[in-house]
Amino acid sequence: MKLANLIGGAMAVPADGAYFDDVDPATGAVCAQVPDSDERDVARAVEAAADAFTGWSTTPAAERSRLLCHLADLIERDLDELARLESIDTGKPLSVARTVDIPRAVANFRFFATAILHTTGQSHQTDTTAINFTLRAPRGVAGLISPWNLPLYLLSWKVAPALATGNTAVAKPSELAPMTAQRLAALSIEAGLPPGVLNIVHGRGPKAGAAIVSHPLVPTISFTGGTETGAQIARTAGPLFKRMALECGGKNPTIVFADADFDDALATSVRAAFSNQGEICLCGSRVLVERTIYDRFVEQFVDRTRKLRVGDPMQTGTDLGALISADHLAKVESYVELARQEGGTIACGGRRPAPEILGDRCRDGVFLEPTVVTGLDSSCRTNTEEIFGPLVTVMPFDDTDAAVTAANATKYGLSASVWTRDLDRAHHVARHLNVGTVWVNCWLLRDLRVPFGGMKSSGIGREGGDEALRFFTEPKNVCIKIGP
Ligand code: NAD
Repeated sequence: MKLANLIGGAMAVPADGAYFDDVDPATGAVCAQVPDSDERDVARAVEAAADAFTGWSTTPAAERSRLLCHLADLIERDLDELARLESIDTGKPLSVARTVDIPRAVANFRFFATAILHTTGQSHQTDTTAINFTLRAPRGVAGLISPWNLPLYLLSWKVAPALATGNTAVAKPSELAPMTAQRLAALSIEAGLPPGVLNIVHGRGPKAGAAIVSHPLVPTISFTGGTETGAQIARTAGPLFKRMALECGGKNPTIVFADADFDDALATSVRAAFSNQGEICLCGSRVLVERTIYDRFVEQFVDRTRKLRVGDPMQTGTDLGALISADHLAKVESYVELARQEGGTIACGGRRPAPEILGDRCRDGVFLEPTVVTGLDSSCRTNTEEIFGPLVTVMPFDDTDAAVTAANATKYGLSASVWTRDLDRAHHVARHLNVGTVWVNCWLLRDLRVPFGGMKSSGIGREGGDEALRFFTEPKNVCIKIGP
């Protein structure tokens, strides 16, 4: 499949005619050719988006809503095909793409398409002197840059609120997983989105992505990806006074107190560690367990991890598929080695699965057994750097303060999952964790209305619900003096 950019409502070849390979990480086969777009493609896309802005931003909300709901219906209609593409592109189990990725993309469009029908404005009366009211207007062309781990899910998390609020957009999906964005482009045409409202430019980050960030006609940048890339984007966009939301990396703790529902905490912390091969920014990659239950917990955690099935993403019953790329596998394996060097014990995993487990089709794929490491303290590199793969550490703690201190001992601050039946303790810990989301007795229970984002090096800004509607609009206060 040869992918194309979506510019001004039509599919377009890249300006210099260059493409690179998109590889199915489960098989090693080339599955698509991706446009290696550059600043000329981005400039054309931004022009198309800027031209479309006046029309789209003055289109009644009900009509924008109708078109975006139609797009959601089309994604839902093509769920099976989109899930297959997502699984091929990322190596994730087809079951995950079918039940998580694509349904969430549908939900994102429906949520924001209908949210704009129910917004309220702000008004402030200044005694008997004046009345203030606050207008909110779309900001123009939004630059939307997304990662490979949840490709359509996270792209739609940006496209939906940007377009719903009346902005036009230039989106750049990850070069490692661009296929569902290609389908989204086709579906947006079928849904009847006016030309130029949504433009999609494929290509590499430092070339196509950087050109979006630096373009003077793009005042809004919404980015999800690694912390280093986020910092790079901030260095460019900051001096240009662009509005930025940077959703970056995480190193999230799962904190299990002795009074927790043991079985639920155990099952969920295994799921939190290894869902999507540990390639979710919200995965719980550090499990902190109260010392009195530590040995029993570790034994059962390892036991459950050993039972997870790694293998062909297309097969029913596969729990972990392939990692995104050979480079990423090498990175995760380097952390297995680092964990050993730092004195950790590999309680299970740490190796590539045997060829007979992968079968002929996936013989050349990039897989790693889910890996549990014990015996490390919270300050070592294995426990402070984002690995973003199927490697989790388990550590004991003695009391609540120690758990909070260990949980906060990284530069990241995205999310945490806390397990206790003690309500006071849950409140106390939630208040003292330096993260954007705290789950108590659950993990990844999402409500699209809540603010989503991270503290510290996990990013700046919030997405989701009203936060997204605010992010993509500019407030303007009008103050009218009341006559005598
Ligand atoms: P990445 O930073 O390498 O790439 C993300 C996107 O940015 C890609 O589209 C890439 O092409 C683009 N990009 C790269 N360099 C760029 C540049 N200089 N200018 C503009 N764009 C550029 O991240 P990744 O490897 O695709 O994704 C994994 C990371 O994403 C992990 O760190 C993970 O924690 C994070 N993530 C965060 C969230 C969140 O909501 N906080 C969600 C998912 C993933």
